[in-house]
Amino acid sequence: MTAKEEDILTSETLLKQGLAIDRLVRSVIVDKSINPDTLLVGDKNAVLVAARMTGFGPFYEVGITCPSCGSQNEASVNLAELEIKDSDTRELQRVDNGYLIQLPVTKIEVVFRLLVSKDETIITKILEQRKKKRQVESMSTLLLSSLIYSANGVTDRDQIESLVEKLPLRDSHFIRDTYDRIKPDIDMTLDFECSSCSHGGKVGMPLTAEFFWPRR
Ligand SMILES: [Zn+2]
Repeated sequence: MTAKEEDILTSETLLKQGLAIDRLVRSVIVDKSINPDTLLVGDKNAVLVAARMTGFGPFYEVGITCPSCGSQNEASVNLAELEIKDSDTRELQRVDNGYLIQLPVTKIEVVFRLLVSKDETIITKILEQRKKKRQVESMSTLLLSSLIYSANGVTDRDQIESLVEKLPLRDSHFIRDTYDRIKPDIDMTLDFECSSCSHGGKVGMPLTAEFFWPRR
């Protein structure tokens, strides 16, 4: 990161439109033939972590809410020690537009794909619009219908969206679990032990403003 990227991060217009992070990723990638919209979500996360480390160092101070008692804990994460989670595609059939799986309950044959940065942007936008209109936020159905490329050969988006709403939980969990297994990513889970109730376990590392706008 250079002063140019710092300008992007402090531009109020870009921040308001939620574009700062995308603009930053575009700016730090040297090879301009790469379109950041087409980066796999995990690759984009890796770029963000690397950019953060060059700009503000590897130590990230973040507040973590205990999933058991709800108290706030302070954690200091060394971003240089985050590990890469490899894609595990064993026993999966690779087809043209993704991976073919058969759902355990309905036996529907689903082709699903890995999400790219652009998909993530679209999902975030839809969620914001629904929030504004005070509609129910439905992250899990949105994510599922973005993952599914086709179901029994049907690619029509409306039909896929209505299928997702009717899928039995075991089938939708099967898709989510398989996706988590094959999705390459930076492992952003942390070992956590609560200072108030001594609850321990893995928690997701929250990406707060502190990630790119650390308190000095
Ligand atoms: Zn606790």
